[in-house]
Amino acid sequence: MDLYEHMGKDLFRAHGIETPRGIVAFSGSDAASATGELGGRSVVKIQVQVGGRGKGGGVELCDTPDAAAAAADRMLGTDFKGFPVTRVLVEELLPIAREFYTSMVLDRSRGDYLAMTTAEGGMDIEEVARTRPDALRRVHIDPMLGLRAYHVRELIGTLPVEAWEGAGDTIRKMFELLVERDATLVEVNPLVLLEDDRVVALDAKVTIDDNALWRHPDIAGLAEQFPIDDVEARAKEKDLQYVKLDGEVGIIGNGAGLVMSTLDVVAQAGARAANFLDVGGGASADQMATSLEVVLSDPAVKVVLVNIFGGITRGDLVARGILEALERVQARVPIVVRLDGTNAEDGRRILSDAAHPKIVPASNMLEAAEEAADLAGATP
Ligand code: GDP
Ligand code: MN
Repeated sequence: MDLYEHMGKDLFRAHGIETPRGIVAFSGSDAASATGELGGRSVVKIQVQVGGRGKGGGVELCDTPDAAAAAADRMLGTDFKGFPVTRVLVEELLPIAREFYTSMVLDRSRGDYLAMTTAEGGMDIEEVARTRPDALRRVHIDPMLGLRAYHVRELIGTLPVEAWEGAGDTIRKMFELLVERDATLVEVNPLVLLEDDRVVALDAKVTIDDNALWRHPDIAGLAEQFPIDDVEARAKEKDLQYVKLDGEVGIIGNGAGLVMSTLDVVAQAGARAANFLDVGGGASADQMATSLEVVLSDPAVKVVLVNIFGGITRGDLVARGILEALERVQARVPIVVRLDGTNAEDGRRILSDAAHPKIVPASNMLEAAEEAADLAGATP
């Protein structure tokens, strides 16, 4: 479960990590009075379960309560990357000297934790990781040994000396939080050095392992505060496994494994999946129609990729299902279809005979993904 920044910061404070003073606001007038309480100036930040707010207009520095009200009014009630904005965090403005990056994640492939720091924090961290990986210090932490002093020294060693004490303290507390709260990610970007040499967590990204939420009823209870996505609610009603993601290629497949690998192949083709949707074993016309409805109702979707491997599900029935679905649902974007397995040839023939203007047939998964990426405008 991804926490809102203000929830992550509540956990930070509970573990003794320094954060700016902040007040959650649900309206422009809330934001104005919060700004007054914080000394007349503030930072207003959209609260959503997705990052990249700084670059996307989701963070605004405000010099007066009125400016904060205007910023909050602009942000509230809109969508940020498809996520509805129901609240903002209003924080005190701090005099920043330097911005760093630090994070800890559960590394499932190695069965340990990976901690990282760099002195080049801020909004271009992905760029730093890609172009100058050496600028990132990486330390693996054996869960049996826990975080040792030498790990901390290695991690802070890349930061300016004025930040060592504060950053080391933050890193130790982040690790305590990670373990005690069963987090799979604790990221602070930026971790800042203030002009008075204090080190403060200016942002908080915390993900709690869903499988451990039963051990943390206080955190599990926070889920009620996340807005329920209409599309996800409809999918649930129809027993479809649907998860919204933030790309542009809508995905429909049968079987969780096939859908997961479809996401990977789409990424390999240079595009990003807009969702995960598993129609399940049956893939009947009705299920297919609902799936298309669900996926097409996401305005971010520029192309749909249907990837079905017929086993018990027969390809001819799937093809008829898609055509029936297209009588019920208005397709506003192209639909790339890859059919394989039982009766796939019959299925493909049915689709080509129908010559539906929106259906783009593909003969294998990679070709389908490349076609979809192309149609989504993701590849040059
Ligand atoms: P993200 O882009 O969603 O990760 O949002 P962040 O919380 O990291 O904020 C983005 C950027 O806003 C930071 O890198 C800072 O440069 C800036 N920012 C946020 N809070 C403050 C603040 O209190 N003072 C100043 N000067 N800048 C801030
Ligand atoms: Mn950030």
